Amino acid sequence: MAKKAIVIGAGIGGLATASLLANKGWDVTIFEKNGCPGGKMQQWESGGFRFDTGPSLLTMPFLLEKLFKECGQDLHDYLSLVEPDPLCRYFYKDGVVFDNFADQDKTVEQIRHFAPEDAEAYRSFLNHSEELYDKTSDAFLFNPLNELSDLKKLKWADVLSINAFSTVSKKVDQSFCSPYLRKFFKRFTTYNGSSPFQAPATLNVIPHVELNQGGYYVKGGLYGIAASLEKLALLLGVTIEYGQTVTSILSDSNRVKAIKLSDGKRVNADLIVANSDATETILHLISPNSVTNGKRRRQQNLEPSCSGFVLMLGCDKKWDQLKHHNIFFSDDYEKEFTHIFQDKTLPDDPTIYVANTSYTDTAHAPKAGSNLFILVNSPYLAKNQDWNHREKTYRDHVINELEARGLDGLRKSIQTEDVITPLDFYKKYGSNKGSIYGTSSNSTFSAFLRPRNKLREFENLYLVGGSTHPGGGIPLVIQSAFNAMQILDRQG
Ligand SMILES: Cc1cc2nc3c(=O)[nH]c(=O)nc-3n(C[C@H](O)[C@H](O)[C@H](O)COP(=O)(O)OP(=O)(O)OC[C@H]3O[C@@H](n4cnc5c(N)ncnc54)[C@H](O)[C@@H]3O)c2cc1C
Repeated sequence: MAKKAIVIGAGIGGLATASLLANKGWDVTIFEKNGCPGGKMQQWESGGFRFDTGPSLLTMPFLLEKLFKECGQDLHDYLSLVEPDPLCRYFYKDGVVFDNFADQDKTVEQIRHFAPEDAEAYRSFLNHSEELYDKTSDAFLFNPLNELSDLKKLKWADVLSINAFSTVSKKVDQSFCSPYLRKFFKRFTTYNGSSPFQAPATLNVIPHVELNQGGYYVKGGLYGIAASLEKLALLLGVTIEYGQTVTSILSDSNRVKAIKLSDGKRVNADLIVANSDATETILHLISPNSVTNGKRRRQQNLEPSCSGFVLMLGCDKKWDQLKHHNIFFSDDYEKEFTHIFQDKTLPDDPTIYVANTSYTDTAHAPKAGSNLFILVNSPYLAKNQDWNHREKTYRDHVINELEARGLDGLRKSIQTEDVITPLDFYKKYGSNKGSIYGTSSNSTFSAFLRPRNKLREFENLYLVGGSTHPGGGIPLVIQSAFNAMQILDRQG
């Protein structure tokens, strides 16, 4: 009889691991507290408008391709990936508009108009970013970093050349003269919810991932990834039970044995994979005696990534200046991150991301309309915040800002809308303090501090998802599933 595995949570990491396990012959059941797959990757439809409420950009698609291939399927039979052109449009407060293209020559041509002094530096910085990727990906990403032998992949000569002891911001400032390119390259650190003014300069690897390797949209919407992962899991025989909250993981010395559900039911298993947030799993799901107080404290003190304030506006208007992805930069980027990570308040002058997928997928809004998904980087939950009050006032603030930045008549054009706050991310998905990318990378050693994909205290409890190694975002979450499988395979 097949051995039984339980996966807690049907986020991207849970679905991916469930498929990999089922493909190896495990009898897998996923227990998910919400009513549908995808975790933070969700969609919302209202009044003829459609929105992705979570991710809007897919990078490193080769990891999703690898997942489907390992399970005997072809990703491209499930999803159609397209690269928006331009990749993204950037609006600066002084009126400069920068279109960033996958084609480097086209981008450099643009830069010559507003920052000629930085045109060539753009190419060299992307080469530097690629070198960082070559030096770090095998050692830090495609490596479970679980055993001493895994550390052999870290080449100490490389460690000294990956700028781990400087910050993203310092390295960018050394590489560019203009405020435009400086802001542009600092922005990529937010892809894993960190501050460019604190994160190690090694994170300058991220521009390579989007600008050299490619930044993709999924036709129909990113939620297609969650839907196709659910399809894959079901095809491989995984059972998914929605509306089932796991309240504890039961163990006996160093083996986990079962989970308990909120209705009191116990379900036994030979193996458990937690896709629930690692902080929730370690502090609340396993028995308090099974890990040391020191470890519990360390987990509690790990700094979460930033959260997000999301506005979805279905508008009966189009704005010619908007492309598919759009960024409206704030004036003082450093002050913005001080607000987010030090003061833990919403920035007065935020950088505003607007995804307008109806630019690519016309069916996402009525003919003359637009579906604007608006995201502002926000602090994770802290005591000084009152979301009930802030939700309405900040919504008004963001709309005022966008109108002032050229989206004339935005407020009057709204036909349908919804807001998601950090408190919603916490309540809906149990993410630590409402963080959206797991833990932050705001220190030199962050890569080593995230929980690994197997909890040492147990022979058979695995952790996957954005709050575990190697970190947040779709590709890394998929990689966490591969890491968990690699460790499991080693166990024989
Ligand atoms: C607004 C926003 C924008 C983003 N943009 C991007 C982007 O453009 N590109 C990108 O790559 N990434 C992006 N991300 C990050 C990306 O969405 C996440 O890193 C990824 O989806 C997290 O997947 P996960 O496997 O960690 O699971 P999660 O999404 O955290 O899912 C965990 C699941 O476990 C369930 N669960 C938790 N506790 C229990 C329990 N006790 N019992 C049962 N079920 C439980 C939850 O309900 C949830 O379904 C974005 C996220 C957000 C919110």
